[in-house]
Amino acid sequence: MSDYEIYALKYAGPFTRTGAHLMWYRDWDKIEKINYYFWCIRGASETVIVDTGVTPQMARDKELNGYVNPIEVLARMNVNAKDIRHVIVTHMHWDHSGGVSLFPRATFYIQENEYRFWQDNPVARRPPFKKVSDSASNTYLASIENTDRLILLKDDQPILPGIECLLSPGHTVALQSVAVNTNRGTAIIGSDCAHVFRNYTEDWPSSLIVDLVEWMKTYDKLGERVSSPDLLFPGHDRLLLENYPEIAEDITRLV
Ligand SMILES: [Zn+2]
Repeated sequence: MSDYEIYALKYAGPFTRTGAHLMWYRDWDKIEKINYYFWCIRGASETVIVDTGVTPQMARDKELNGYVNPIEVLARMNVNAKDIRHVIVTHMHWDHSGGVSLFPRATFYIQENEYRFWQDNPVARRPPFKKVSDSASNTYLASIENTDRLILLKDDQPILPGIECLLSPGHTVALQSVAVNTNRGTAIIGSDCAHVFRNYTEDWPSSLIVDLVEWMKTYDKLGERVSSPDLLFPGHDRLLLENYPEIAEDITRLV
C-alpha cells in the first residue's frame, strides 16, 4: 500500500486563548497561543488536502491575525489549489470548511451526518452553533450537492488506498479524522478531536463539546488505530509548527 507524507500548513495566527478553551473546564487562569492550520497528504501519485482554511473575504470579516490565503501557502510547496482533486472536510466549523470555494475542481468528502446537521437541523441556526459555522461555504457545498464533487460518507470509509476517513464525534456531531499510511505506520490527522497534544496525552478534551461521552470513545478509537501515540496530531497546537522540520514558510512535515 502506498506511503504518504503529511504536512501541516499554518494559514492564520497566532491567536491567544484561555487555557480552558484548550483543556475543557481547566486552566482558566492560563493564556496559550494557537494557530489555524490545514493539512496536505502527499504520495507518489496523489495529493489530498484535509480542511480548507478560509477565503480572503472571511479573513477580512473576522480580522484574522497573520492570515495568508491557503492558495498561496500551498504554492510554497508547489501545489496548485486549482489542480487538487480530493479535499477531506473534517467538520463544518468555519475555520476548517470556510475555504471550500478555493478548490474549484475538488471532490469534497464529508460525513453525511455532519453535513445534514449543518445544512438542515434547526439547532444549527441557534447562536452557539451559528457562531462557529459559515453560511457562505455551506451554500457553496449545497450548490454541488448531488454532483460527483460532494461525497457524503457514512462511518469509516477509505477514499484512496492508504487514506481512510474515521468517524470521530464529540467536538461536532460527526467530525471525521483521517488515518494515513506513512513510512512509520498509521498516522492520524485528528483535526479538532484535540486542539493541542495535551488533550490526547492527558485524556482530556478541549471545548465546544456536543457529546462528551462520544468524545471519550473517539479517543479510544483513535488510540487503537494509530501506530504510535506521537503520530496522532491535534488541530490547533502551535507545536505543529514549532516541533517539526519546516520545509517552507509556515509549512512543516509531520511525518
Ligand atoms: Zn478548529
